[in-house]
Amino acid sequence: MVRVGEDPASVSYVRSKSKVSEELGIYSETIVLADNTSEEALLTLIAKLNNDPQFHGILVQLPLPRHINTDKVLNAIKPEKDVDGFHPMNAGKLLNGEPLFIPCTPHGIQELLIRSGNSPEGKHVVICGRSNLVGKPLMAMLIQKRKGANATVTMCHTGTRNLASLTRQADILVVAMGRPKAITADMVKNGVVVIDVGVNRVPDKTRKSGFRLVGDTDFEAIERKAKAITPVPGGVGPMTVTMLMANVVKAAELWSVGSQKS
Ligand code: NAP
Repeated sequence: MVRVGEDPASVSYVRSKSKVSEELGIYSETIVLADNTSEEALLTLIAKLNNDPQFHGILVQLPLPRHINTDKVLNAIKPEKDVDGFHPMNAGKLLNGEPLFIPCTPHGIQELLIRSGNSPEGKHVVICGRSNLVGKPLMAMLIQKRKGANATVTMCHTGTRNLASLTRQADILVVAMGRPKAITADMVKNGVVVIDVGVNRVPDKTRKSGFRLVGDTDFEAIERKAKAITPVPGGVGPMTVTMLMANVVKAAELWSVGSQKS
């Protein structure tokens, strides 16, 4: 894992990924670079890791400092080591229905839905947020004609007119907006299944840290109307880490098959 700078959320995410990989017996190293590291230095490091057979997977923790071009960095990771699934080749394969590495958060969301008995098949799924990390890959996955997908998907964003009229139609509502309490109880129908992806820090004087984490929904009010809703923290977050570990195992297996052939 490569972390650039000391963004507190990134520090915490990388720490938890490292902890889980240790628990599972997956060897990991975290390379921490200073906030003012140049794009060139980061690309040189990635080139080195691409060719290092000790590592089957490379993860560059986002967001990167503004002076670094994120797309350029993600494109530099070898697709066979791209355990985050953000390389354009992996994004394209996902859209075509032949994924190599599925991005961890949307994959975690799909698993949560299937394993909780709320398969998206035949359902109207409304996704709020069209980022390359969450909303777009989730849409690409859920529209596939296959088990655990095959949903009708509506994608919402800041250009969407009358958001509430669409969220109220959702059988399954996925919210990845990064806006605390953006979705309120009047915006959902009874019996909806809500996946709250948002992770927002809001000030809280009662906490030692001075903040607490909340999602993008009014959890307490929606819980009374919903069939199911994921909590923040503790819902999508741990699933994201779990699916990352699954991708690392897959990368190691691919490498092992490849090395036997050569
Ligand atoms: P992002 O890149 O900031 O994207 C946010 C999306 O929400 C954009 O598509 C934006 O629309 C849309 N949006 C924002 N305000 C809106 C509004 N008022 N009405 C309609 N659409 C609106 O965020 P992201 O990276 O996808 O992350 C979203 C949230 O999920 C964040 O809180 C992040 O921390 C969290 N997250 C959690 C995990 C996890 O593992 N738990 C993983 C990834 C992200 P436009 O495109 O039009 O701007």
